[in-house]
Amino acid sequence: MAVIGAGPGGYHAAIRLGQLGKKVVCIDRDEVGGVCLNWGCIPTKALLHVGEVIRHIERAAAIGLKVPKAQVDREAVAKFKTDVVNANVGGVKTLFKANGVEFVRGQATFTSPSELDVTSQDGGTARIAASQFVIATGSAPVDVKAWPRDGETIINSDDAVKLARIPKRLLVVGGGVIGLEFATVYRRLEAEVLVVEMMPQILTGTDLEIGKTLGRILKKQGIEIMLNTKVGAIEKRGSTVRATLNGEGTANKDETREFDMVLVAVGRRPVTDNLGLRAAGLDVDDRGFIAVDRQQRTNVAHIFAIGDVTGQPLLAHRAMKQGVVAAEVISGDKSAAFDPVAVPNCIYTDPEVATVGLSEEEAKAAGYEVRIGKFPLAASGRARTMNEAEGLIKLVADAKSDLLL
Ligand code: FAD
Repeated sequence: MAVIGAGPGGYHAAIRLGQLGKKVVCIDRDEVGGVCLNWGCIPTKALLHVGEVIRHIERAAAIGLKVPKAQVDREAVAKFKTDVVNANVGGVKTLFKANGVEFVRGQATFTSPSELDVTSQDGGTARIAASQFVIATGSAPVDVKAWPRDGETIINSDDAVKLARIPKRLLVVGGGVIGLEFATVYRRLEAEVLVVEMMPQILTGTDLEIGKTLGRILKKQGIEIMLNTKVGAIEKRGSTVRATLNGEGTANKDETREFDMVLVAVGRRPVTDNLGLRAAGLDVDDRGFIAVDRQQRTNVAHIFAIGDVTGQPLLAHRAMKQGVVAAEVISGDKSAAFDPVAVPNCIYTDPEVATVGLSEEEAKAAGYEVRIGKFPLAASGRARTMNEAEGLIKLVADAKSDLLL
């Protein structure tokens, strides 16, 4: 068996195949752990944790503690984050060894539906034949041509996570989960942050009321948010950039503002470059994601695909579950299947947002007569004991059957 990509999807598939007694090789052109461990979930959560501790320190007086203001040592914070990443990467390597997974570092390219060329960094090539394949090549940030990334003043999430410097003024283009998580990180590290979102709400696709509530709380924390507003030209001027904004946030007039850094967080694309999709005979959808059925099988019966490269929602735990399903199907379990109905979604802003199932808007659009239940955290004794009483719990149900949606 050959698994391409050693991110959360790929390493789960490879380990499960090893546990099920298969001979398995896992190939990645980069370090094991994929986006999640190296550039995504893990480093952002380490940085967000630092921000949360800073907030606790700032609010300590409210619970009777006199604590001096936190002083940020940027290099030490970055080291903490890198140490956490390295420990997690090391853990996956140990699991590979323990479960008989062979790891090969190199770029994998199908030369036919049953063979791959693996090109290592020194340019050497090895051919790998397998009876079954799992593609887990993930996703990458969408770059906007008009705003060329230089990694220092115009950056994407891969750069932001390095914490190479803390800008005085940061523009975040895109009010989705990645934009808002970094807005929270950099705000806590004392940057002035403006988030510009062209849609009428942040977190498009999340329950509208939950998104609005989070927006209000983030504004109170000092994050400026403009909705229905577009970023036009971004001009580099030495070490700063000038961005032109237009929309609801600027009274529908062009407004030019200066920033020290711009984070472009406008979406992610599937990674299928150099994969040899055509040689393998694989179909993709109109956005380039690989089409699969509920057993993670592509249009080529012995090739499976899992995780971000198969489309939304782009979440590590979804990739992991799909990896296990693919491994079990390959090993002959006919009942193994991925059920997309209740994939939990998480947004690690501070406060965090957790959702599962349908939002109120999605339930209505699906034709349900909706019944809503709400519980403000201000009414929760436990939340008050933690001095964390902002926010709410919302339940969306079918009024006819009382089924939770
Ligand atoms: P990836 O993790 O993208 O791994 C793909 C791997 O394939 C990479 O290592 C790549 O090098 C390799 N590869 C690609 N092409 C080839 C090739 N041809 N040959 C060899 N190797 C190849 N999700 C959550 O659930 N919780 C979070 O808190 C969270 N936070 C995030 C924060 C950020 C900033 C970002 C960017 C993402 C976050 N995500 C989070 C999403 C999560 O990282 C992804 O859903 C997850 O990494 C997808 O896993 P994957 O295995 O599909 O692919």
